[in-house]
Amino acid sequence: MAEHEIPRATAKRLPIYYRYLKLLLDAGTTRISSTELSDAVKFDAATIRRDFSYFGALGKRGYGYDVKALLAFFSEVLNQEDLASVALVGVGNLGQALLNYNFHQSSNARISAAFDVNPDIVNTIKSGVPVYSLDDLEKQISDQRIEVAILTVPATVAQDIAHRLEACGVKGILNFTPLRLDVSKDVLVQNVDLTNELQTLLYFINNFSADEAK
Ligand code: ATP
Repeated sequence: MAEHEIPRATAKRLPIYYRYLKLLLDAGTTRISSTELSDAVKFDAATIRRDFSYFGALGKRGYGYDVKALLAFFSEVLNQEDLASVALVGVGNLGQALLNYNFHQSSNARISAAFDVNPDIVNTIKSGVPVYSLDDLEKQISDQRIEVAILTVPATVAQDIAHRLEACGVKGILNFTPLRLDVSKDVLVQNVDLTNELQTLLYFINNFSADEAK
């Protein structure tokens, strides 16, 4: 079945399967049942069997799934062989933490260029990643064929940078600023608002406790 025919919900689970299967293979496990996989990744076994069925009959009754074969298959679907270069704009506290984070270990992405306006860090290397001046944004993005950018700048400048990223061909933005970006429909924006997430968690915890107290 062609990749574009995989249901969206299934496609979203593939990286999770991939990561777990890779751990198994590294630990020397050669086969796994859908029930064992279910315990590990917390999707029910029927969902897993249905997901895998989109790729043909990969499992064998009484044997389970061949870890190596599954992994080879998923790595092809997920383009794990193609290492995606990602840009990071804004090397502040959060930006530096992300530069330090080893995305490459568990995904097919790595940050290959960072950008900032602070002269103290421009033209330095942070966690192995060169920090360029924001003036070099367009040149580096096009030279390195970067299509994805992480935005960790102050919210006040986020929209302007998003426009510049779009203009030089970026197709996806992981937006850590609280600003909702205005970009064309050709650019996918994934918002990660950590403060909001924490507030939501606190809200649910407080409400839950209040209900319990009644
Ligand atoms: P964080 O929100 O990541 O904890 P911070 O408090 O360290 O950040 P911010 O003021 O949010 O600092 O700025 C984040 C980074 O973005 C800083 O390194 C700052 O120099 C940089 N920055 C500010 N304006 C721009 C801009 N227009 N383009 C690129 N980087 C910028």
